[in-house]
Amino acid sequence: MKPNTLFQEALKHIPSGVNSPVRAFRAVGGTPLFMERGSGPYVYDAAGKRYLDFCLSWGPLIFGHAPKGLLRAIQKKAEWGTSFGAPTENEVALAKLIKKAFPSIEKVRLVSSGTEAVMSLIRLARGVTGRKKILKIEGGYHGHVDSLLVKTGSGGATFGRPDSLGVPEEFAQLTLSLPFNDSEALRRVFRKEGKNIAALILEPVPANMGVVLPKPGYLEEARSLTRKYGVQLIFDEVITGFRLGFGGAQERFGIHADLTALGKVLGGGLPLAAFGGKAKTMNELAPEGGVYQAGTLSGNPLATSAALWMLERLSPGIYSQLEIKSEEFYEELRSRIQYFGWPLELNAIGSMFTLFFRPSPPPSPPKRGRGKGEGVIDFASAKQSDTKRYAKFFHGCLAESVYLAPSQFEANFISTEHSAKDLARAVPIFERVLRKIF
Ligand code: PMP
Repeated sequence: MKPNTLFQEALKHIPSGVNSPVRAFRAVGGTPLFMERGSGPYVYDAAGKRYLDFCLSWGPLIFGHAPKGLLRAIQKKAEWGTSFGAPTENEVALAKLIKKAFPSIEKVRLVSSGTEAVMSLIRLARGVTGRKKILKIEGGYHGHVDSLLVKTGSGGATFGRPDSLGVPEEFAQLTLSLPFNDSEALRRVFRKEGKNIAALILEPVPANMGVVLPKPGYLEEARSLTRKYGVQLIFDEVITGFRLGFGGAQERFGIHADLTALGKVLGGGLPLAAFGGKAKTMNELAPEGGVYQAGTLSGNPLATSAALWMLERLSPGIYSQLEIKSEEFYEELRSRIQYFGWPLELNAIGSMFTLFFRPSPPPSPPKRGRGKGEGVIDFASAKQSDTKRYAKFFHGCLAESVYLAPSQFEANFISTEHSAKDLARAVPIFERVLRKIF
């Protein structure tokens, strides 16, 4: 079936033709691409056209598409059965590896999606603290958990109606939100509500309003306030875990969360996520404890085989090579932005980046007032981006066989399979497209 026909057909049977909203291309316009296969840094659509892929299934594919070893691992496992609904040795091996990567995790449970991991953590935090309120960051996205669909990023950021219908007001009222990178706002909320808050949940490097870096001291402030007020600090490392380093953002910034959500890279493209923390807290989960959480496919043998294959290969050398290559690419991009004077700002860390269609701040000292002259530091500054221009850029790149995240408010990713040559080839493509736009 031709891709356009496919979408018309999908519309008849699937709401908006897609199984997850951002896939519908609403933020950039046009018809979503139907994908057929992937290989290394490339993805092929249903018409057989090849794209250099910077979306990479929204993050999991740090080794690119279809790594041979991973395919062999899941094929071999599948021959022995696809699910047992009983414990398997893989789960124990994987739990040990996750703990090795994240010293703040003493016990860990496996689930099938990031949403499930976060949802379970929210219940656990409320269960162990006996408190009801949750504090989140504006523009932070943590899956489609009822109580967290308040001031969301990702699909919600372009949706124009960030708070979903179907979430009772009473739920939303228990969720407080505040801007990222604002230590003073954090202190204020804690002074007023600290004793009522079960958890502060944040992406330590937000990636669902586009990539935003934490200011020095911000995560430290979050750590010290949560400790002082007995609030569980939840790091949602669904994107950053195993992406910013083997130990994720916690290793990179030297801050330990109480509870951590993992997903994406962990499962290497299979439905697998995890959540963990101190043994004492995790032991509050059923059946030992009173906080209920379960899953028919949790710890699925195919997913755990993929995860074991991923974690066994994620060595420090992999990350340093990936970072060197990525940095060279960012440098090239930054120098073109400067040379042409385009109103663009590149936010990047490790192998994830967002090109914001918003002027970079001048190198002079920041102006007075929060956020002024500081670039994209929170949701409000991210939203100053020219999303129409981003849409043009996205489609221009698509025409040149480069596939980016189909929204301004998302991260793009680089894999080990993107060679320095692939990245060097992408730069003049971006330049050509940008010269047409500006
Ligand atoms: N947390 C973060 C930080 C995410 O980026 C996402 C998904 N993009 C989720 C949670 C939800 O994960 P999933 O889509 O696997 O449910």
